[in-house]
Amino acid sequence: MTETAQPYCMNRKYFAAAAAILAVAFAVLWVAYGLEGKTRQTFNCAQSIPTLAVLPSNEYEEAFSSGIQTYPADAQTTEKVSHTTEKTVYLTFDDGPSDRITPKILDILDSENVKATFFIVGQQAERRRYLIRREAESGHTVAVHSYTHDYKKIYRSPQSLIEDIDRCNDVIESITGRRSCVYRFPGGSYGLKSDIIAAAAEHGMRYVDWNASTRDAEWGAGGTDDLYRNAVETSANCNNIVLLSHDSTDKKYTPEATRKIIKYYKQKGYTFGTF
Ligand SMILES: [Zn+2]
Repeated sequence: MTETAQPYCMNRKYFAAAAAILAVAFAVLWVAYGLEGKTRQTFNCAQSIPTLAVLPSNEYEEAFSSGIQTYPADAQTTEKVSHTTEKTVYLTFDDGPSDRITPKILDILDSENVKATFFIVGQQAERRRYLIRREAESGHTVAVHSYTHDYKKIYRSPQSLIEDIDRCNDVIESITGRRSCVYRFPGGSYGLKSDIIAAAAEHGMRYVDWNASTRDAEWGAGGTDDLYRNAVETSANCNNIVLLSHDSTDKKYTPEATRKIIKYYKQKGYTFGTF
């Protein structure tokens, strides 16, 4: 071997070690951010209110008098957000219904006499119509999340997004008798292309993101106390909170966390709103 071979070999060893470290780091990040697909939300509501909703202007007063930021923003609504002092929390549950978790959450909401908004997955609802019926009859809002919850299909084009929304709404209408214009983009609207967002708005959907989260869909989410603490921490100093949770089948700590979260916000003087 020549004299230059040794350094070359060593470089290769270092290179392999560095590549392995990078691969592990990447895998950890990928798992942490990948479980809910595109985790793009900002949790610190002191920085901004990333909660957006598209509303016809005549509905600003009714639905958003408590000051949730609206889209498209205008001077009137911006004014409203900055001067709001009333404290409202909107509990939202995505990705249900599930036989295992949804009834527990509904029982807790009943016992606390609180209403919430359920962003449902049509495919799951078709096989669990009794749960959607119960949500609607109990006075909760049944809203559109997706039919398939398959990002690749949904976000392929504006057209496929609208098809997905309509299919989910067909299921909602077949159970409740009415369609919903309240929508949550799978993964949230952050980072989506403007033509995708515009398509939903032009289709008459008001979309709602969130500005606080139990982080129950994230890797290593922890138990009841962790979810509770996440909700409290991510909503600190917020007058208007849209809290993200999930009622999909593996979210076993979400129901009891929800009970604690409700008691906390009640004690802090919040009222509970729905979309
Ligand atoms: Zn979802």
